[in-house]
Amino acid sequence: MPEFVDTSPSGSCLFCRLVAGEIPSAQVFEDEHTLAFMDIGQVNPGHVLVASKRHAATLLELTGEEAGAVMQTAQRVARAVQACFAPDGIMLLQANGAAAGQTVQHFHIHVVPRHADDGIHFTWPRPSPAPDVLAGYAERLRTAL
Ligand SMILES: [Zn+2]
Repeated sequence: MPEFVDTSPSGSCLFCRLVAGEIPSAQVFEDEHTLAFMDIGQVNPGHVLVASKRHAATLLELTGEEAGAVMQTAQRVARAVQACFAPDGIMLLQANGAAAGQTVQHFHIHVVPRHADDGIHFTWPRPSPAPDVLAGYAERLRTAL
């Protein structure tokens, strides 16, 4: 994915400015907790970003209500994207932290229309830990939940 760098002044997040209407965007939907707008870097036509209205850098900082709201809006937008652009598939992409590829430090989900052979490549290594190792991971998470 091409690297986008948020050049907003310190303390003035790009998406907060966009939510406040201080900078223009091609908006497609808005409700109490979310704003959906066209990504200026259209991976494929119909590529939309769904952001929380309140500033939260990552998924971890959203309230449960906000987390539900952004996914409901993403689904609503995805249905509209399917109806309007008829992609072969739709990918949701949501990154938290620079190591995960997050370039704007304000929570957002990409709704990306996908087509066969559209040039997007997404690969990851697939090590296969032993069952007892997986069980150990699961136990740690159950304890944390
Ligand atoms: Zn923000």
